[in-house]
Amino acid sequence: MDEDALDALATAVRRADSTVALTGAGVSTASGIPSFRGEDGIWDRWDPNAFHRRRLEADPAGFWTDRVDLRAELVAGDPEPNDAHGALAAMERRGHLDAVVTQNVDGLHADAGTDRLVELHGTNRRVRCDDCGERRPAEPVFERVRDGSVPPRCGCGGVYRPDVVLFGESLDDDALDRAQRLARESDVFLAVGSSLSVRPAALLPRIAVDADASLAIVNFEPTPRDGDADHLFREDVTDLLPALEARVRRCQG
Ligand code: ZN
Repeated sequence: MDEDALDALATAVRRADSTVALTGAGVSTASGIPSFRGEDGIWDRWDPNAFHRRRLEADPAGFWTDRVDLRAELVAGDPEPNDAHGALAAMERRGHLDAVVTQNVDGLHADAGTDRLVELHGTNRRVRCDDCGERRPAEPVFERVRDGSVPPRCGCGGVYRPDVVLFGESLDDDALDRAQRLARESDVFLAVGSSLSVRPAALLPRIAVDADASLAIVNFEPTPRDGDADHLFREDVTDLLPALEARVRRCQG
């Protein structure tokens, strides 16, 4: 690890009034969550049309039957927060991180204790009624589906759906607004484990840089935003973030 580069980033974080992290799939893979995109990713092996908005409307029972199978694969390794999730939560607790904006839907940032969290694509931990919008924890509803209640229905008669952005749907305006505001108001924008290739994650670093933030990118693979980065690390996020957290904390006194 480049210690000087890490020192420079730690100094920037310490001096910042606002540091915001954007996290992508690379933060979850270390917890055993299979990646969604790319070769042998979830969407390489599962037909995305099975989880399309149109399928939910046309064949809600089939949608849910497939969704239960997908979920079984996603949680097969009993995923828990890893050191990267932990480091971000610790930085927030000590006042060195304003918020985490995530592309992930696995709920692991919340498990790790991150409080100020924007889940751009929603969360698999909840379902919501497609008619009245009522939200509830997902697991009991998955249980009902496994017991044969397909599709699962809300008290109002509407069909439940995962509280995530489905194929064929647009992002939640409120989440997007919050993420853009956080990016605009940040002094340090930390993009972690994201290929920065999918909107809106692709746009947020640019918004931050345009508002004069320092941009740090931590990712194994090159990203389209690397040319804008003030701090660039081709490191494992579970090594880099704990090292950064320790350094920011140590230099505090
Ligand atoms: Zn309802």
